[in-house]
Amino acid sequence: MRLRPPTTLSEFCDRLVSALSGPQMLAFIPALCLAGYWMGGEVTLVAVALLVPMAWMMLGGLDKLVKNRVARMPVSGLVEPDAFRERVQGMREDVIGTEYNSALIAIELDDFATLKGRFEPNAVDRVLKAVGQRLKSVSRDTDVISKVGDSRFAICLAPVKHLDLESCIQMSGRIQQAIEEPIALDGATVYVTASVGFCLQARAPKTNSQDWINAALAALNEAQRRGPTSVRAYSTELHSRLKSRANLREEVAAALEQGQIQPWFQPQISTDTGKVSGFEALARWIHPVRGAISPVEFLPAIEEAALLERLAEVIMYHTFTALKAWDAAGVNVPQVGVNFSGSELNNPRLCEKISWELDRFDLAPERLTVEILETVVTDTLGDTITLNINALHDLGCQIDLDDFGTGHASLSAIRRFGVGRIKIDRSFVMKADRDPEQQRMISAILTMAERLGIETLAEGVETVGEHALLAQLGCDYVQGFGIAQPMPFEKTLDWIRTHEAKVQDAPAIPLRRSN
Ligand code: C2E
Ligand code: CA
Ligand code: CA
Repeated sequence: MRLRPPTTLSEFCDRLVSALSGPQMLAFIPALCLAGYWMGGEVTLVAVALLVPMAWMMLGGLDKLVKNRVARMPVSGLVEPDAFRERVQGMREDVIGTEYNSALIAIELDDFATLKGRFEPNAVDRVLKAVGQRLKSVSRDTDVISKVGDSRFAICLAPVKHLDLESCIQMSGRIQQAIEEPIALDGATVYVTASVGFCLQARAPKTNSQDWINAALAALNEAQRRGPTSVRAYSTELHSRLKSRANLREEVAAALEQGQIQPWFQPQISTDTGKVSGFEALARWIHPVRGAISPVEFLPAIEEAALLERLAEVIMYHTFTALKAWDAAGVNVPQVGVNFSGSELNNPRLCEKISWELDRFDLAPERLTVEILETVVTDTLGDTITLNINALHDLGCQIDLDDFGTGHASLSAIRRFGVGRIKIDRSFVMKADRDPEQQRMISAILTMAERLGIETLAEGVETVGEHALLAQLGCDYVQGFGIAQPMPFEKTLDWIRTHEAKVQDAPAIPLRRSN
């Protein structure tokens, strides 16, 4: 950060004291001694040699020197995290109750996992070193920089007057610009971006320096939630939002353990026969006061609480129990789709766990359909997800590609992952019976799937018109409020029986298939 010229006499004096007590002053001592000797002889030489260092120490020079000598990381020349915390503590004490302000800036590279997946560890190290160097180049010598995580850095700005939100935003922009400069690596050029969160000391929690650091990290998390290259400042509103998110995390964790979260089941039917071809298990939080809560409201809290794996266990347990109950009741439910998020699919033990559970319930693997979002398949560069999907396919589970049309899954990815069915996203199905553009899109998807030998299911079918059109175009299965809303297990048996009775009497819809 570049300093503005001083605007008042007291600021000028402050700056002068700061300059005179800096380590650079030591370099002038020999010249001052020599000048003293020339002008006043030996006595002056001795006086200058004694008084100048004493004055320097009294102005706080020694303190500064000791502080600046705090351990530095050997690789990048940055301050070690422990020493960084000490320095932050010192800066905090320096500014509290004064007109000076300081700020903590937290920086993290966007999409570091992809970078790690693409390059060797020592190449990644070089990228991180380059980032460290660039952070130093945009900071002052008196600012303190540390690497506080895998690809996470923090800068504590040395106290200055008039440091405000605007100057921190500008500083964040300069940091991002510096990081975004291309990095040359073994003939390749690497482009990285970063998100930034900061907390001005004046706005930090009044508790301690660790809370100040945490506030900057919370602002960084908030920036990252907005997407790459974002900048966010810590504020009291952010604080209360974080507090209510933390409360929700605690509540949802307790709800999961108390059995308040369970799957509801939404039927899927064959357009050929009209019969139930399966269900999709959709998580619901049966809240004692608020009733059934949609996963859209509580899934982010479950993810933040790192409980997605536990949720998958709970949903699978209830789903397998339901399959056994349908079998025992003599109704035909061939399979149930369970949603798996990217992070669940990253669990190296996932396939083993599912296989073990299927065995325990004595269920054939084809009774479980694994629903994977198209965006997860698109983004997948990590090996674990690929291995898991392939292993689940080899085990005999069916693979549904969820929300098809919202990502950019390549045809080769569809083949590689052994996708058996695509679930056409609701956005294509909406008003399809009245919108020729929608019909063209659906026809194109159906033709592609047919050529690839993959089945199709249309999601979010709400009206009889949409249902009839999809059947006519040759979509294999439909699911949506037009057929039934998701329902608790207890309602499924009645629903299936009523539906099967209706199917027996209904006339078949003529299909327009190309084969
Ligand atoms: P999804 O997998 O695409 O599930 C379909 C969503 O559309 C469900 O929302 C369902 O209730 C809703 N839906 C079904 N038919 C219609 C319709 O005709 N019209 C409209 N407007 N909506 C319809 P829900 O249950 O709120 O779930 C939202 C998302 O949460 C799901 O989207 C899925 O991605 C995720 N999810 C649900 N359960 C789980 C779970 O157990 N684990 C994980 N990881 N994700 C889950
Ligand atoms: Ca789904
Ligand atoms: Ca979907």
